[in-house]
Amino acid sequence: MNPLPRHDHYIAGEWTAPADGGYFASVNPATAEPWYEAARGTAADVDRAVGAARTAFEDPRWRDLSQTRRGRLLRNLGDLIGDHAERLARTETLDNGKLLREMRAQLAGLPEYFYYYAGLADKIQGEVIPGAGRELLNYTLREPVGVVGAITPWNSPLLLTATKLAPALAAGNTVVVKPSEHTSASLLALAPLFEEAGFPPGVVNVVTGYGTEAGAPLTEHEAVAKVTFTGSSGTGRRIARTCADRLIGCTLELGGKSPNIIFPDADLGSAAMGVIAGIFAAAGQTCVAGSRVLVHREAYDEVLERVTARAATIRVGDPLEETTELGPLALAEQLEKVESYVELGQAEGGKVVCGGRRPDTGLDGYFYSPTVFTGTDNGMRICQEEIFGPVATVMPFGSEEEALSIANDSAYGLAAGVWTRDVNRVHRMAARLEAGTVWANTYRSMSPMSPRAGFKTSGMGTEHGTEVIREYTRLKSVWINTSEEPAGDPFILRS
Ligand code: NAD
Repeated sequence: MNPLPRHDHYIAGEWTAPADGGYFASVNPATAEPWYEAARGTAADVDRAVGAARTAFEDPRWRDLSQTRRGRLLRNLGDLIGDHAERLARTETLDNGKLLREMRAQLAGLPEYFYYYAGLADKIQGEVIPGAGRELLNYTLREPVGVVGAITPWNSPLLLTATKLAPALAAGNTVVVKPSEHTSASLLALAPLFEEAGFPPGVVNVVTGYGTEAGAPLTEHEAVAKVTFTGSSGTGRRIARTCADRLIGCTLELGGKSPNIIFPDADLGSAAMGVIAGIFAAAGQTCVAGSRVLVHREAYDEVLERVTARAATIRVGDPLEETTELGPLALAEQLEKVESYVELGQAEGGKVVCGGRRPDTGLDGYFYSPTVFTGTDNGMRICQEEIFGPVATVMPFGSEEEALSIANDSAYGLAAGVWTRDVNRVHRMAARLEAGTVWANTYRSMSPMSPRAGFKTSGMGTEHGTEVIREYTRLKSVWINTSEEPAGDPFILRS
């Protein structure tokens, strides 16, 4: 049998073998077969990568580059990603099992992230503070923080890397990225494009490996000035503790248990499609998955009927096939987790009205049928804990107040959907839902221009939009005495 292709770390513009020689295999979730090996990073590799990033941060080729020129490099990178989009999309599908159709769409939109922050790069500026005194000038400088450590999950590897990389680079930082151990391939395929776009070596580095072996040392490294993380709330908490000890900033984009709320005056056909898109797109492996479907009693039967009818016909299978609508879960552990939650939901008293099993696809991968529960109560664990799979609970409510109370009864606060034709209700709900993103009569819309934040245990800080630049800069206040008058004795008080 041919050995699997092997990939090293990408440090200072060079492929770099792991310090201790270890590699690990990554599995294609559609076939359950390993398909490449990546370097198994350790603290020594992280140290090398952070060292390269620190050197690049102080290198005049990067430090003294004009902000407009920095923007130009980001634009170049966006163009190159566009040129390589098909290859990158296929790589992501082989690594995490998401539909090729979906990854193509995601990759086609990816250059927009780099273009948006390319345009912002030369608009990052301080300001003059008025009122400091007639002969005192006080102004601020908005400076890059230094080396940024970026840690990403497996569900949308390049998209979630771009949301960190583009603003961090626009602000003049250098970056070490540690991708998920389950999906290193697309970032490794992208890595040579950084230098091709014109970034000096060491501005972006990639260290692959496991969370505890490579991720943790990145957050602990004394030369890392900021950590940006997307992943589970449990890991987010650990990273926040490390950053608190080190007194450095961290941006956390974490999990969710988002409500998708349907009022009886909504276009129920569209709302049902919104439910399907919210929970079954990407096999439910999205942080914003609308996993708790709340339906007004008057519309409950009709919405349930429409949702289960469509869910039962979703074509599950090979994610590379154009006609497939639902691919596998990304990992064997994820499949086991989904199965155990479905068992738990039934033990808690819920009823599976659709799915609830492994479908027969003829493939050995980690497939699970679109699953719908009824008879659940919001207090049950399947309504409170993030499953991260194709499992929806459909629950009735009787009033707007009750819908809000159920929706907000969650440790999470990432996103929420509202379906109604009543514009006043939309605004009332948007104001009172405890979620960083609220969608009305749509679900999952997203843009680099629109800020994205998690409330409660869904995160800390903001991504996307102009606000994110604050996360990657520090503010310095400069005071200048413009007077020619000699300084008086500080101990003699002038009247
Ligand atoms: P995870 O927390 O297990 O892993 C995420 C990353 O953290 C991986 O790269 C992993 O290697 C690393 N890691 C693990 N332990 C670490 C440690 N102790 N120190 C440093 N790094 C460590 O998450 P996952 O299973 O890869 O991703 C799924 C989770 O991500 C879900 O909870 C999902 O909701 C969340 N997510 C959130 C968003 C968002 O924008 N809010 C987007 C996508 C996914």
